[in-house]
Amino acid sequence: KKRNPHEDEFHQAVEEVATSVMPWYLQHEPYQKAQILERMTEPDRIVIFRVSWETDDGDVRANRAWRVQFNHSLGPYKGGLRFDPSVTQSVLKFLGFEQIFKNSLTGLPMGGAKGGSNFNPKGKSDREVMRFCQSMMTELHRHIGEDVDVPAGDIGVGSREISFLFGQYMRLENRWSGVLTGKGCSFGGSAVRTEATGYGCVYFCEHVLNEHGEGLKGKAIAISGSGNVALYAAEKAMLKDAKVVTMSDSGGFIHVPEGLTEPQWEFLKDLKENRRGRISELADQFDGIQFHTDARPWGVDCDVAMPCATQNELDGDDAQTLINNGVLAVCEGANMPTTPDAAARFRNHDILHAPGKASNAGGVAVSGLEQSQNAMRISWSHEEVDERLKKIISEIHDRCVQHGKRNGRVNYIDGANIAGFQKVAEAMLAYGVV
Ligand code: NDP
Repeated sequence: KKRNPHEDEFHQAVEEVATSVMPWYLQHEPYQKAQILERMTEPDRIVIFRVSWETDDGDVRANRAWRVQFNHSLGPYKGGLRFDPSVTQSVLKFLGFEQIFKNSLTGLPMGGAKGGSNFNPKGKSDREVMRFCQSMMTELHRHIGEDVDVPAGDIGVGSREISFLFGQYMRLENRWSGVLTGKGCSFGGSAVRTEATGYGCVYFCEHVLNEHGEGLKGKAIAISGSGNVALYAAEKAMLKDAKVVTMSDSGGFIHVPEGLTEPQWEFLKDLKENRRGRISELADQFDGIQFHTDARPWGVDCDVAMPCATQNELDGDDAQTLINNGVLAVCEGANMPTTPDAAARFRNHDILHAPGKASNAGGVAVSGLEQSQNAMRISWSHEEVDERLKKIISEIHDRCVQHGKRNGRVNYIDGANIAGFQKVAEAMLAYGVV
């Protein structure tokens, strides 16, 4: 904490991993002697730069941007870009740190990184977003490359932003390469990438329930968020005959006690993907949907909680309410959505708790498959990518079980942290002092 003052989110992420891996680490002297844990918590480098851009009115604005290249022991740096006013160096360091272990868990050759800016895309015109993306890439292009660092999307960075960034990269480098993932399918993107994080989260959740004698069919699922991850988690849950009882955005949540219907989901998808509207419009449009302003969805009756919005969106009180209401499992679609207090309560009550680095790894896994397709200059069908995604998620679940099963129940936080950590630690030890 002395070395990284004021980086609360980063401390939180490191503490969680360190708590899980410490028993193993203390039994393996060569790793301690080589200071693997200490070295792993120091990013390889952080690039910080100014992004100047012009509004439609001709005013000049300046934002700050970062790329945190954390660890490339297992492959080129890989991780998303986030555009949101809440972005700080601490947030990006926590995300980059988590990404190392998530990417390790997928079994694909990817290192960990994260980047972004405190730029707020909300309320900006397409042309303003384009000018911002072009200006950002004018600096970022020096630090990335298909064998160096391959950014993707995250909060506030979807297909529109990735396309603007990619266009500018090609203009500057005068060559086409798979330097970004999440591209449109007509220019090198992968089938299923849009859906992958949400679908993967539901596939993982099904493994968690099956492993403990339960199934997904008929379960009530409370989802937060209505962005990329939340939308496709909801779609897949509905396809598997589960009931999606809530969704949310930063203005509040909708409660659908009987479960979201297909027409309602289609309306929401169009509202969020094409019209950048507010979720409250869903309650205006359909009967039987209640909208709760400025509230989070964790107070409703549900079997599974699936936080898919942002970090620390589910606190100790929310966790207690969920426990009192009989929740069986928490599967994180977002990164670090539960506070340490919430996580402790779930652990103390034996609630199945899948951390984002395991349950939301489907997105980066399909990004890894996009890189492979780009390198081979081929594209796989929707079915082929979906099958590969299912296999990767099933293998991540197996790794969590292998490292986290105690007395017949799986501690997914320990399982994911230990499995992810060991592989990176082995590689770092093998490289010597670098
Ligand atoms: P989007 O920008 O598509 O959607 C984010 C959603 O969360 C929106 O509904 C947004 O509401 C809501 N939200 C954001 N901040 C807050 C807040 N402070 N309080 C309440 N609601 C909030 O992002 P993604 O769906 O891509 O990402 C969601 C989470 O999943 C993040 O934690 C991300 O890191 C993680 N993730 C994403 C992956 C991906 O492939 N996209 C991969 C792995 C993890 P509003 O529109 O009102 O702001």
